[in-house]
Amino acid sequence: MDETTIKNRRYADVIVEISHEKVDRAFQYLIPEALLGQIAPGVRVHVPFGQGNKDMTGYVVELSEEADYPVEKMKEIRCIDEKATTLESDLIQTAYWMKSHYGSTMITALKTVLPVKQKLKQPERKKVIRRCGREEIEKQLAECERKHQTAKVRVLNALLEEEILPYSLLREKLNVAAPTLNSLEKQGIIAIEKEHYYRNPVKRTEAREAARMLSAGQRHIIDDVMADYRAGRPGTYLIQGITGSGKTEVYLGIIEEMIGMGKQAIMLIPEIALTYQTLLRFYKRFGDRVSVINSTLSMGEKYDQTERARRGELDVMIGPRSALFTPFPNLGVIVIDEEHENSYKSETMPKYHARETAVQIASLKGASVVLGSATPSLEASYRAEKGEYKRYLLKERLTGGMLPKVYTVDLREELKEGNRSIFSRKLKELLEQRLAAGEQSMLFLNRRGYAGFISCRACGHVMKCPHCDVSLSEHKNGMLVCHYCGYEEKRPPLCPSCGSRYLLGFRAGTEQIEEAVYKEFPGARVLRMDADSTRSKESYEKILSAFADGKADILVGTQMIVKGHDFPNVTLVGILAADLSLNQNDYRAGERTFQLLTQAAGRAGRGEKPGEVVIQTYQPEHYSIVHAAGQDYEGFYKEEIVYRELLQYPPAAHMLAILAVSGEEAEGNGVLETFARLVRERFGRDKSLYIIGPAQAAVARINDLYRHTLYLKHSDYERLVQIKDMLEAYGKEQDFKKLNIQFDFNPMNTY
Ligand code: ADP
Ligand code: ZN
Ligand code: ZN
Repeated sequence: MDETTIKNRRYADVIVEISHEKVDRAFQYLIPEALLGQIAPGVRVHVPFGQGNKDMTGYVVELSEEADYPVEKMKEIRCIDEKATTLESDLIQTAYWMKSHYGSTMITALKTVLPVKQKLKQPERKKVIRRCGREEIEKQLAECERKHQTAKVRVLNALLEEEILPYSLLREKLNVAAPTLNSLEKQGIIAIEKEHYYRNPVKRTEAREAARMLSAGQRHIIDDVMADYRAGRPGTYLIQGITGSGKTEVYLGIIEEMIGMGKQAIMLIPEIALTYQTLLRFYKRFGDRVSVINSTLSMGEKYDQTERARRGELDVMIGPRSALFTPFPNLGVIVIDEEHENSYKSETMPKYHARETAVQIASLKGASVVLGSATPSLEASYRAEKGEYKRYLLKERLTGGMLPKVYTVDLREELKEGNRSIFSRKLKELLEQRLAAGEQSMLFLNRRGYAGFISCRACGHVMKCPHCDVSLSEHKNGMLVCHYCGYEEKRPPLCPSCGSRYLLGFRAGTEQIEEAVYKEFPGARVLRMDADSTRSKESYEKILSAFADGKADILVGTQMIVKGHDFPNVTLVGILAADLSLNQNDYRAGERTFQLLTQAAGRAGRGEKPGEVVIQTYQPEHYSIVHAAGQDYEGFYKEEIVYRELLQYPPAAHMLAILAVSGEEAEGNGVLETFARLVRERFGRDKSLYIIGPAQAAVARINDLYRHTLYLKHSDYERLVQIKDMLEAYGKEQDFKKLNIQFDFNPMNTY
């Protein structure tokens, strides 16, 4: 906000005694003349409160030019509180930035950044401690392997590496049930103890050993980032390197140096990649001054973790997107691993992106931001190209594993040769080899369920959800399911429209692949992982550990199987229909396809044995597929950015998507028509502004609510914010009852 805007705003919304439950109760106060220009969101003030005008402190969350109620009755702010704790102030400023930058109410933004205050009894933090020597453990291990007690095997293996382990890590990430641990305790192999007996088991020597191992490239990055920081020039850095190239080791190094300077670190990792191995590395390095936030924690537990951070009991907070708001007193660095992941963008208001928000928080706190990825987002590469981020490359895989050999198979050729199976001849041949050799394979499909729709071959009737504008998917149990609202119906025997018996499915989902594997390779053991088979968190870890334990030869799955997890025995990855994710009407489809294929290919050959990858596609000449097969990021980036620049898509320009969700079809469309007209009236002469729509959304109806979109593109983000503010103000005036308007800046998907 500039000086004059601030001066025009005479009224301040103040939240007294801020806490999560109270954020929707702000009180408006008059700003006295003397304080005009000094009061801004995040400033702590003294105000007269209640009947007796008791002196209370509160935080300013918003300024406005107009009073919400008669000015005669309005009390004045007394003074600014000089003893303000900057933590709250920073969080409020962050919320204010998010509200202005992404569009939402201040309340929603505050609720996003402030932890829910909830007292709970001190949660039990337990540790598992090894109570016998290595030999005894190894003896037990052999015994358990013989008895196929695989959960015990996992625990014992972990204990061979580490003598003390957090209880929760074993339970949640190694998928070990409590009775298993209790039984090990009874046998005298482990002890389960409350944590406070074992504060800070950091093994300093190990940390130093790890630091000595660093390659010259790794050392250079750490030194460079730290030199900037020490010189008071914290920046944003992009580390580009394939999985296994040593990025995590660099993060650990930077964080360690920050901690050495009395600073703290926030480490963002997509939830799906919060694996046992990754978390263990952090625990090993930083002991119990590390904490993890994830979606399985209750509100109370999350609050407890943020309080520990605030009190200075933690050095590192690891977690997905929301860990960004950890109130550290001396934040030194925010690291974002896999920065290209879609999950860094919030799907609810405010629709913030963790990368941009991290840069904002870092500038508020004087911290550095480190981004890492094997396939950086176009955004990050573009910023690096422009010199806004410093880029580093890590080129080699340090674990020695060779890059996999990739074969691209043209499915049109297969069909010409008379192969109607979903496995190309090449893939079939390689799968047979793996089965014979006792090695594991992964088959990847970018879709779930039977995905394909059911249609009548006689009249063309398509089975659709009665509440949503999408076709129903056939599942193995004979049900037709809507993946948007969950609606289910039994598959009718005859076409409801013409009565024909030829109501057939277009089958191309994970379930069908599982069936096809059983048919082609009798005796093969298959596990399937997709959103349907992993409704609960537990089943997700269960399938992964079963596969890691060698309980299946082939893992069939969607996106979920290509992220995060390492299976050293996997030497073959088959990508069944690489184009599925290309044929979406979405400007990020090419990028997403490239990332997915590169990641999937990277799953093969992570152990000692070399890996092979088969990419099956109908468009072998498409640049996303060509460059993914060649593991060529630069080549992909060069072609993709030309397309974005040509069509003014992010990151070459900025885009604002406006989504109207309404019960009446005409209403949503009508409002967006008005929006478009208002924008034309006020900004029509701006040659850099593009207005697209309004139009029906790609999915025009969900749960009986109609969806319409309007897209705006402009090279200047601020101009789009201006437009959003104008439309938001108009919307407030109109006070739409049955209409929901959502703003989404630089959306990850088109609606
Ligand atoms: P990334 O995060 O890029 O996947 P990691 O940091 O996890 O890479 O490193 C991959 C593997 O290589 C890990 O097992 C790690 O311990 C090991 N490693 C990392 N740096 C070095 C190094 N300088 N020398 C030897 N091994 C290393
Ligand atoms: Zn539906
Ligand atoms: Zn029909």
